[in-house]
Amino acid sequence: MDNPWEVAQNQFDEAAKLSGLEDWLCSLLREPERVMTVSIPVRMDNGDVHIFTGYRSQHSSLRGPTKGGIRYHHNVNLDEVKALSMWMTWKCAVMNIPFGGGKGGIKCSPKKMSSGEIERMTRKYISEIACIIGPTKDIPAPDVNTDPQTMAWVMDTYSRISGGYTPGVVTGKPLEIGGSEGRNQATGRGIYFTILNYFKHKKQSVDKKNVIIQGFGNAGKYSAMFLEKEGFIITGVSDSTGAIYNSKGIDVEKLIKVKNKTKSVMNYKDAEKISVNEILELKTDILIPAALESSINSVNACRIKANLICEAANGPITKEADRILEDKNIVVIPDILANAGGVSVSYFEWVQNTQSFYWTAEEVDVRLRNLMEKAFNNIICIAEEKNISLRMSALMIAINRVSAAARLRGV
Ligand code: NAD
Repeated sequence: MDNPWEVAQNQFDEAAKLSGLEDWLCSLLREPERVMTVSIPVRMDNGDVHIFTGYRSQHSSLRGPTKGGIRYHHNVNLDEVKALSMWMTWKCAVMNIPFGGGKGGIKCSPKKMSSGEIERMTRKYISEIACIIGPTKDIPAPDVNTDPQTMAWVMDTYSRISGGYTPGVVTGKPLEIGGSEGRNQATGRGIYFTILNYFKHKKQSVDKKNVIIQGFGNAGKYSAMFLEKEGFIITGVSDSTGAIYNSKGIDVEKLIKVKNKTKSVMNYKDAEKISVNEILELKTDILIPAALESSINSVNACRIKANLICEAANGPITKEADRILEDKNIVVIPDILANAGGVSVSYFEWVQNTQSFYWTAEEVDVRLRNLMEKAFNNIICIAEEKNISLRMSALMIAINRVSAAARLRGV
């Protein structure tokens, strides 16, 4: 598999060159400001002590505290976390949110662990990284295999260590303890707004456009739900257990129930079962990769038949694959714009926590819609003006904003 850190650095190098960035800024922004690796001893339910390895990478705090999710997965490693933290810097900058980029993770197999084991691991991890996080330093959020309950443990552990109720240390919390309306659905909501913005710009109707979604977790599930309500037809869905396809459409509400109950999309009845690789290569109007990095790579990119790819996952397309897709005239809406709904509502949550003043679901939704539309228009305008890809346009906007902060702040 392609190394996501190399993918992230290559993307940066290309956009930095196009922007004519000074050498010192290239060197500065090519690496994270700080990375931390921690050992996490956890007493397992059977009495054994298991030592997990956890990471936190803070790529850039030039525009504000670093911000980014915490991932629990058996493939988590330092390079992945560094890449994800760099993408967070660009994402916050492209949305013009006053945060930098961070990311964390623990190498573990959460599906094989009990809730008690995950709670103890989370609390120990947070106590290890407590010295570098905080509402004005670095603010975690959910990512793969972490959820509002995990964020509640993060908030509670940090509040106990810091000696006071500190909801602003983490976002994606449950509503009862300082979460924001709309945060849980925000990434999917942002994907939906982005796709609508794209077709509005193209002056095309969205009615009955086909969608295939890889990954049916937080990002994939809510994307499917909002798109289906708008008249899109969700024809294919996959998760880590397999893939299902029905050209007439999959009933998203039913599928969510099946997935919640059985933990697998494969138990949905009214669809053909196919392989997770095959589903990516089917003909479709829109393909939404919403799982992990590098799922579209030099091996399968030439077989992709989608007209549009909207990146819900971070880094789902490798550098080589990007080039192949461009040659095939497949439009890619990049992750740092497409999935920015999550961090945008995380920002709203942090603002609400800071003010102890909470907004309605409607207020959150209107603000998110406006933010996504503004960022989209900005990116498409520069892409068309300079005849570059949406990814390069988004990266150039982001890099320009971060480097402006660097020049002003000085060394
Ligand atoms: P999640 O844990 O809720 O869901 C991940 C899904 O991907 C699961 O359904 C899993 O079964 C599936 N999956 C894993 N490997 C797969 C494979 N090989 N083929 C098909 N499906 C596979 O995670 P999430 O929060 O939805 O995150 C998914 C992606 O979206 C990640 O790249 C994450 O960084 C990105 N993202 C998430 C958020 C957020 O707010 N949660 C925000 C921005 C970006």
